[in-house]
Amino acid sequence: MRKPLIAGNWKMHKTLDDARELVTGIVDGVGKLGASDGVEVLICTPFTLLFPIAKALANTPVMFGAQNAHEEAQGAFTGEVSVPMLKDTGCTHVIIGHSERRHVFGEKNDRLAKKVRAVVDAGLTVIYCVGETLDEREAGKTREVIESQMGEVIDSDVLADRLVVAYEPVWAIGTGKTASPEQAQEVHGWVRASLASTYDKTTADGVRILYGGSVKPGNAAELLSLPDVDGALVGGACLVASDFIAIISAAAASVPA
Ligand code: PEP
Repeated sequence: MRKPLIAGNWKMHKTLDDARELVTGIVDGVGKLGASDGVEVLICTPFTLLFPIAKALANTPVMFGAQNAHEEAQGAFTGEVSVPMLKDTGCTHVIIGHSERRHVFGEKNDRLAKKVRAVVDAGLTVIYCVGETLDEREAGKTREVIESQMGEVIDSDVLADRLVVAYEPVWAIGTGKTASPEQAQEVHGWVRASLASTYDKTTADGVRILYGGSVKPGNAAELLSLPDVDGALVGGACLVASDFIAIISAAAASVPA
């Protein structure tokens, strides 16, 4: 059985004092919920917060991760951060291929393949994001886009135990629009089929596929109840502790007793 993962993507939000306040709210909320047995909780913060957040989360069930990494371990790459540097902070996860990295910073599948390998080979878990733009959906190209984002990046050398995929339709990120349950389940099914052709069915059935795109307390339960939705990657709603906790609570409720 796949344990749900609720991951918060803080993007470029929070300075230290605000971050400490938010983390306190999340840790308290997770503690009150007592959900940590059934649900994994992760926050992906800006690089600057990783060391202090590591301290704030010590001895709590909440995990932390980064939102990007360079594919090389070191070198003359001004302004970049490598996976070994991220490992130093004690973080466990790295998001790779978020739509803002693809569409604002121009990262393409060939480069993302190197980044995914760098994260996984270093022993961290990658949250690899895929998703179509509105134009691609309207042109009927969603399956083709998802299959190339999967096929060109995830090969069988990527250790599946360290892989989480997040389906995030670009048109639903930060827009308040959410994929319908049918749309989400259909694409998650395609992602799982792609994993089965890269690995095998049993391996594919063990990989978690998160949904992301305007997940909120009000829509989380429906999305998380879908058979191939194994958690959520949450942007806006993860910046308010009570909203993030409500989504975690919906995930806990989705786990069969
Ligand atoms: C995200 O940043 O990955 C995201 C899904 O954002 P939001 O929840 O705000 O749409």
